[in-house]
Amino acid sequence: MTANDLSTINELESCVRSYVRSFPAVFTKARGYKMWDENGKEYLDFFAGAGSLNYGHNEPNMKKKLVEYILDDGITHSLDKATTAKIDFLNKFNNVILKPRDLEYRIMFPGPTGTNTVESALKLARKVTGRTDIISFTNGFHGMTIGALSVTGNSMKRKGAGIPLSHTVTMPYDNFVSEDLDTLEYLERFLEDNGSGVSIPAAIILETVQGEGGINAARFEWIKKVDEICKRWGILLIIDDVQAGVGRTGTFFSFEPAGIKPDIVCLSKSIGGYGLPLALTLIRPDLDQWKPGEHNGTFRGNNHAFITATEALTYWEDPAFEKSVQDKSVTITKFLENMIEKYPEMKGHLKGRGFMQGISSDVDGFSDKVAKNAFKRALIMETAGGHDEVFKLFPPINIDEQGLEQGFKVIEDSIKATVQ
Ligand code: PMP
Repeated sequence: MTANDLSTINELESCVRSYVRSFPAVFTKARGYKMWDENGKEYLDFFAGAGSLNYGHNEPNMKKKLVEYILDDGITHSLDKATTAKIDFLNKFNNVILKPRDLEYRIMFPGPTGTNTVESALKLARKVTGRTDIISFTNGFHGMTIGALSVTGNSMKRKGAGIPLSHTVTMPYDNFVSEDLDTLEYLERFLEDNGSGVSIPAAIILETVQGEGGINAARFEWIKKVDEICKRWGILLIIDDVQAGVGRTGTFFSFEPAGIKPDIVCLSKSIGGYGLPLALTLIRPDLDQWKPGEHNGTFRGNNHAFITATEALTYWEDPAFEKSVQDKSVTITKFLENMIEKYPEMKGHLKGRGFMQGISSDVDGFSDKVAKNAFKRALIMETAGGHDEVFKLFPPINIDEQGLEQGFKVIEDSIKATVQ
């Protein structure tokens, strides 16, 4: 392999490619929080597949289970036929994740991606309530199909649809206007006033921390209030935990500290555990009104992903794991606070929660430069927000302290280089 491989990508891959532009290297190997390019150069991965590699690359226990399964001719593709891999996953997910949290859901496999789970949640909400509208929030990101895109608050992505998208109302997210303006009060006024043009929706969909939209973390009281509004008006609450779930914010489900039980939960990204595609739609049992085959897809329930997903849940059997994620989150917060104080030129603000944190800079283009400078120093990091104003720290949640410190050093050097 030579560096010329990038020219192949530039010539043959569609213009829609994106990450290859930010990270112009040809990668060959990865382990834990590290990646290597074709020349053997080592990178720190503080991007973790945008939250799909919460346990890092090639996690050894998952790899072992997967290799054993493959060597034993374990079935790969089965549509939604019964397989031992699927049954083991369902049982473990119920026993390790749902039951201890006093949650009861039917588990649907809507297709391989995050977009698939969102799409199925929107469809189900419309079917069950007989209503069509969905309320979503400014800067929310829910996926790229026309349904999921219609609830996504990003004009650049929406332009990709080429047509106006209907049946959605976008409301201001927590803090979108200012901290002390209660935007939910407006929402309720709209719902009360039929002439306002906001009819009672089938569902409200939200991310508790908006990943792509700038790692905006809604306050738990705000989330709880949305839940109360939903209950008062008979609106279904869909929590899109595709990015914020599976431990990313410090608890398995991001909504746990808010003390709510959403009607529908969307999971994907790290639920497969090994970077393998898997998506779940968790459905309140009485809402599971699908007729057999009403929503299907060829790649529902990838058995290799079931094997790694089941093994990944082992992490959650030990409460010490969750505690360690929370402890390391505090370390990340402290580091970022220190950076904001030490480099006032950055005009930075702390964003996010848990392992989903970053800095938003008021200086135009600053965050993008930090990410680029980090890449030059062999650390992979993404920007987020409507104007890419946030650089986000997204390492695997099982990274050790040493890995964090190594990353912090590169990030500080990159901030320093940007300030100068
Ligand atoms: N919802 C959220 C919150 C996401 O962050 C994403 C992906 N970034 C999606 C849905 C869509 O997932 P996918 O790209 O796997 O279709």
